[in-house]
Amino acid sequence: MANPTLLILAGDGIGPEVMGQVTRIIDWFGVKRDLTFDVEHDLVGGCAYDKHGTPLHDDTMARALEVDAVLLGAVGGPKYDNLDFSVKPERGLLRLRKEMDLFSNLRPAQCFDALADFSSLKKHLIAGLDIMIVRELTSGVYFGEPRGIFEEGNERVGINTQRYTESEIDRVARSAFELARRRGNKVCSMEKANVMESGILWREVVQKVHDEDYPDVELSHMYADNGAMQLVRAPKQFDVIVTDNLFGDILSDCAAMLTGSLGMLPSASLGAPNADGRPKALYEPVHGSAPDIAGQGKANPIACILSFAMALRYSFDQGEEAARLEAAIEKVLADGARTADLMGEEGGTPISTSEMGDAILAALEASL
Ligand code: NAD
Repeated sequence: MANPTLLILAGDGIGPEVMGQVTRIIDWFGVKRDLTFDVEHDLVGGCAYDKHGTPLHDDTMARALEVDAVLLGAVGGPKYDNLDFSVKPERGLLRLRKEMDLFSNLRPAQCFDALADFSSLKKHLIAGLDIMIVRELTSGVYFGEPRGIFEEGNERVGINTQRYTESEIDRVARSAFELARRRGNKVCSMEKANVMESGILWREVVQKVHDEDYPDVELSHMYADNGAMQLVRAPKQFDVIVTDNLFGDILSDCAAMLTGSLGMLPSASLGAPNADGRPKALYEPVHGSAPDIAGQGKANPIACILSFAMALRYSFDQGEEAARLEAAIEKVLADGARTADLMGEEGGTPISTSEMGDAILAALEASL
């Protein structure tokens, strides 16, 4: 069997620094777990603009569509702030998401016990938290037409349109139910069916998909405003939450920050399955290129490493190896290793990006 293929787009700022630790871990899995990937590296964002005059070269886009998974670091930086909108670094990322048709955005909110004090919530509410928000990523109010700012009488009116087709709701609901079956087997669907027709349709379609194909999964529905309250009141009641693009944008940020630092948050964006059953997939940390600390060896690589763990689980069916990697991170944190972003009030000396990589590799080695 051919090795699975990975396209690594480290990007700008701290992207290459954190991705450097991921490639060490990928190499470790090749040598120690007989899990070898064919890895290619290419450019995205500002560095691609510097070389090609575009934040994503057509050849890179074509490879992204061919490989089994794409791992992305981060894009952007002050150097590119004044570029024309059409060639800004973020356009490279948006093009990837659009052309790969990544409609299902997975944002875990997981609390490592050693970091429970980082949360703004009380420790008992947050310790052991493990929820997954599935956000619809390619439709809804960010894309619906008509949109724009128009003249109306003697004033202007700003218009955006919330629009969902049945098939768009159907496919993201399926991805949430599939995910739930690999986890706690519970899905909570959030919308505003009390005041929005698109919410009524959302609720109907999610229920229909459930009744026809996933009756074994526990399904509940919640208005998204109540969902926001429940997330900060008692977050552990949830397993998988599925919601639309706008509500998902807000709820996933809210849920993720329950757990502490940006440097800890991974994400996955999945599309339709290929012929071999693997979804098109892009894995990336939630954080940006952090220009304030770039090049200083201060960045926390864990968000990017956890994104690779998600790739192991969701693209390569290597749940046990993903768990091994997550357990190694848990152990390193429990032993007190902290990059600068994880320094609490108790103080101490932070370790560097590569020292965090060393510690995780040592914990992986000890897991054998
Ligand atoms: P940011 O996420 O880059 O940084 C916000 C803060 O968090 C900074 O203080 C930074 O030092 C810190 N931080 C982020 N990641 C960290 C890590 N791994 N370890 C330690 N500290 C970390 O967001 P920003 O400052 O708003 O944006 C900076 C640039 O990144 C901008 O050009 C923005 O457009 C871009 N951006 C890109 C993405 C992406 O590539 N997906 C996402 C958000 C922002």
